[in-house]
Amino acid sequence: MSSILIVEDEVSLTSVLRRGFEAEGLRVDVAHDGHEGLRLALTGAHDAIVLDVMLPGLDGHRVCRTVRAAGLWTPILMLTARDSEYDEAEGLDTGADDYLTKPFSYLVLQARLRALLRRGGAARPAVVEAGDLVLEPGSKRCTRAGAEIPLTAKEFDLLAVLARRPGVTVSKGALLEEVWDLPADSDPNVVEVHVSALRRKLQAPVRDTADTARPLLHTARGIGYRLVPQPAATP
Ligand code: CA
Repeated sequence: MSSILIVEDEVSLTSVLRRGFEAEGLRVDVAHDGHEGLRLALTGAHDAIVLDVMLPGLDGHRVCRTVRAAGLWTPILMLTARDSEYDEAEGLDTGADDYLTKPFSYLVLQARLRALLRRGGAARPAVVEAGDLVLEPGSKRCTRAGAEIPLTAKEFDLLAVLARRPGVTVSKGALLEEVWDLPADSDPNVVEVHVSALRRKLQAPVRDTADTARPLLHTARGIGYRLVPQPAATP
């Protein structure tokens, strides 16, 4: 289940958004001022943040900049009542991924948020590292223990979703949504097939070392999969 943080001081707007998002099956946290919003954002517990610019305490640009400076790349959708190019540039400049001017229709916000959840943050660091595994999203290049592993685009995307949440079990339904853009209740066979192909490929670089076990992908039976990072082999 995706988790959304809404940082917005207009109580009527936040309750409309909360109801809408919860009806879609999202988990929702709400903060009504910049300081509380920043505190919640820094927990890193959210899949996306809807962040108003005009906030008491700390404005949205400051919140966004501080979150990025802390090395967190949660996708951020900025909201503002001001409609100027300057604002938009500033929002994107501080590390926001998308921008929506008030008043907006709920359907537009919902669509933009869905898109953000699907593609993740644009400002995400180029490289994902999990133990001896390195993923370069730009080039879709994958190496383990320094050896290059050729992956298909879907294999790469699947592995990247798991590697960004090391140790966390991701359900097959969530993988269907995030990697294939399919409803969570679709046939999970496509996920299973890709995971078993990935397992084979990921073992290749370490097969000949003394330490042959070290599987990266673990099955949580009946639930999904998690990636457990393995340290580089010691000689
Ligand atoms: Ca506001």
